[in-house]
Amino acid sequence: MGYARIHCVGLVGLAGHLVEVEADLSAGLPAVVLTGLPDTALHEARDRVRAAVVNSGQPWPNRRITVNLLPAALPKQGSGFDLAIATAMLAGSGELPCAALDGVVVLGELGLDGTVRPVRGVLPMVAAAARAGMRHVIVPLGNAREATVVPGISVRAVDSLRRLVDFVRGAGPLLDPPPAEPPPPAGGPDLSDVAGQEMGRYGLEVAAAGGHHLAMFGSPGAGKTMLAERLPSILPELDDDAALEVTALQSIAGVLPPDGHLVRRPPFQAPHHSASMAALVGGGSGLARPGALSLAHRGVLFLDEAPELSGTALQALRQPLETGRVVLARARGTTEYPARVQLVIAANPCPCASPAGDQACTCPPAVRRRYLAKLSGPLLDRIDIRLSLHPVRAAQLLTASEPATPSAEVATRVAGARAAAAARWAADGWPVNAEVPGSQLRRYPWRLPTPDTVSLRAALDRALLSARGFDRVLRLAWTISDLDGKDRPGRAEVDEALQLRMGDRREYAG
Ligand SMILES: [Zn+2]
Repeated sequence: MGYARIHCVGLVGLAGHLVEVEADLSAGLPAVVLTGLPDTALHEARDRVRAAVVNSGQPWPNRRITVNLLPAALPKQGSGFDLAIATAMLAGSGELPCAALDGVVVLGELGLDGTVRPVRGVLPMVAAAARAGMRHVIVPLGNAREATVVPGISVRAVDSLRRLVDFVRGAGPLLDPPPAEPPPPAGGPDLSDVAGQEMGRYGLEVAAAGGHHLAMFGSPGAGKTMLAERLPSILPELDDDAALEVTALQSIAGVLPPDGHLVRRPPFQAPHHSASMAALVGGGSGLARPGALSLAHRGVLFLDEAPELSGTALQALRQPLETGRVVLARARGTTEYPARVQLVIAANPCPCASPAGDQACTCPPAVRRRYLAKLSGPLLDRIDIRLSLHPVRAAQLLTASEPATPSAEVATRVAGARAAAAARWAADGWPVNAEVPGSQLRRYPWRLPTPDTVSLRAALDRALLSARGFDRVLRLAWTISDLDGKDRPGRAEVDEALQLRMGDRREYAG
């Protein structure tokens, strides 16, 4: 009796897929049947859509209505299909001329009163629609700004089902997306706020230049958090692809600022050590939300007081840190989000966390060792730089002769070093030194002359350093050499790298 088809987009992780919403109206007992792997929220769509249609002053077709979502094999989650379902039904019943919505993607959740509500993940949905060759998209007004970030597709907005119905009948206009707000100020914490801490600042710069994971040990007040928070300020801005990914992840998590701009700054996430598993790695019901690990994708994940993390949390971090992806097991298949992060961990030297540092600590050495040993394996083994930080003394602050270097200046050096490394490894595809396998650095033509690695080999022979630690020092030496504008590291760079690896305490080495 009646059939109509409307386009929509479903998300699986970060990937959007074009979905066809078909409505078929036939004689038979009045009922609505939804098919095509709908999840619970989608089942509730049936009741929302009915109330919204009736409350928008449209007649409810008293027939057997079958709504089918294609492709059937694609898992579909969330409430973003409501508006497409309502539109397909009204078009199928002959209330709307369907032709007006050819080549148009319709996204949005319906309230019972017929208002169209924002949904999470509109940015990756619109990006997918554009990739699939669709030319127009209709989105909830509250999502219109983020939708306009996607090039190559025209964006119109609706605030109610009634407005969409009127538009399709040629009786009224859609809404224009609100103009983008001025871009957010470039501000944020700056390295010029950090007084003293020469070693800490240097470690941070090397970490940024080579993409190295970083661990900082020191008593409370040593400035670990202050330094970590400033790492994004010296990292390069995100390129177009990375910015789109990061912005899409924030859109899915529902934390995207509504200003209508791509996120260009590397993100910074600092989950508390007691954070839930869902907050840390992602999850939740319906559309699985990305956790801190994925929200830190292409940016910095800072784990303060890392030894306080539960064994379960440490275990959950292991796989994503290795693969750069989070895989969330769901009732229907799995959801996957990217999670390529630069890891920064901070730890007190011992569980008493005495602000006075080692002088006041009376913990037995075995307790101190066990406290930090928890980190080895899952986290510490992946970390190139291990800094020991000490609280800045008043005397150091007062004798500091010149103001601390601002982030912008450090960022320029970091960019230069990164460019040198990227050019050197271009043929192999490693963007930063941290990703170069140790075996590569130990062979011709990258192998360093024997006299330059004297202290490094001595550390290995005296078991102060593991074989993997040896490779990590080589990587650091290359980064230091890149920062110094040299062709290859010499003995001075290797010794400096060894210093960054070992800190000044044996218990952090390895
Ligand atoms: Zn102690």
